[in-house]
Amino acid sequence: MAGLRLLLVSTPLGPLGQGLGGGVELTLLGLLQGLAGRGHQLSLIAAEGSQLALPPGVELLLEPGLPQPSWQHQQRQGAIQIPAAGLLPRFWARALALQDQFDAVLNLGYDWLPFWLTPQFRPPLFHLVSMGSVAQAMDEVIEATAAAFPQRLAFHSAAQAADFHLLGPPRLLANGFDFSRYSFQAEPKSLLGWVGRIAPEKGLEDAAQAAAAWGWPLAVWGLLEDPAYGAAVEASVPAGTLQWRGFLATEQLQAELGQCAALLNTPKWNEAFGNVLVEAMACGVPVLAYRRGGPAELVDPGVSGALVEPDQVGALLEALPQVLALDRRACRSRAQERFSLEAFAERVEAWLLEPG
Ligand code: UDP
Repeated sequence: MAGLRLLLVSTPLGPLGQGLGGGVELTLLGLLQGLAGRGHQLSLIAAEGSQLALPPGVELLLEPGLPQPSWQHQQRQGAIQIPAAGLLPRFWARALALQDQFDAVLNLGYDWLPFWLTPQFRPPLFHLVSMGSVAQAMDEVIEATAAAFPQRLAFHSAAQAADFHLLGPPRLLANGFDFSRYSFQAEPKSLLGWVGRIAPEKGLEDAAQAAAAWGWPLAVWGLLEDPAYGAAVEASVPAGTLQWRGFLATEQLQAELGQCAALLNTPKWNEAFGNVLVEAMACGVPVLAYRRGGPAELVDPGVSGALVEPDQVGALLEALPQVLALDRRACRSRAQERFSLEAFAERVEAWLLEPG
């Protein structure tokens, strides 16, 4: 099969490399690497100022503009906002202008405009949906796109897709990771870990409570999206419980994360996937997570971690001893079997090639 000419359009939340795009940033890099490895010709539209190590041969098309406000921090009934000088309209004006050079266009952003534009593109426009339901306007445009073009949407997990009224079974792609970027660490410290954007939907407060009760520090990596929330969590536990490590590039993140005895994952929302769970497992760090959303589909209880009743700090504490006793090498191996980059790229390619 000849390689496809593919145009990928990044999230307009801001320049890549600082964590503004959440898990989409790593997903995008994995997609580029996996699809380039399968012989496809790739171009990427992203924000000016993006810092990213692109695989060789990928064409980078940069656009200036204001960051797009993220849907998960707006009212459920919030209006659609498109800043006139924003990255979002600039990205899609560029994609429309260039469309005839491509066999397909792939949208990575969770925004109203690209879904609405689906019928306006001559090459098929595909959407990898990165969140569950967070706003009415997005539910409507996602569901309308799914009804008119059912093959054009894909999701990361069944729990995420179940947020939307779809007429047929959803296409589930999970996600893929380059395990060569994550080193296995056999000997952890007496340290618990937590990784994510520091924002209320991520539920850091529960992990902090659990760490305080267990008596080990909790290392926290991630973008401080909501400083007032971060300060409130800090104030809710004894001084020294939280170790703020900041937002790190993958190489440094995995080196530090691998020292943890376990990762706590305690989101309050219907997390679409949960990249950080697989990244921890890739280092040999088992995961103790709430049985909710995507994370519940990622942990293999008894092998790579444990799942407990959501919002129950006591349940986390009860399950922690068995998580700490797990075989760290088996944890990494299971994750590698399930979430390889190669298999993910194959699934994405099959999706893009399916007629219709
Ligand atoms: N991340 C990172 N460095 C950090 C902390 C987090 O690169 O110090 C990345 C991590 O690799 C993951 C993303 O931030 O890809 C968070 O994604 P996740 O899917 O867990 O949640 P989201 O932010 O999309 O809700």
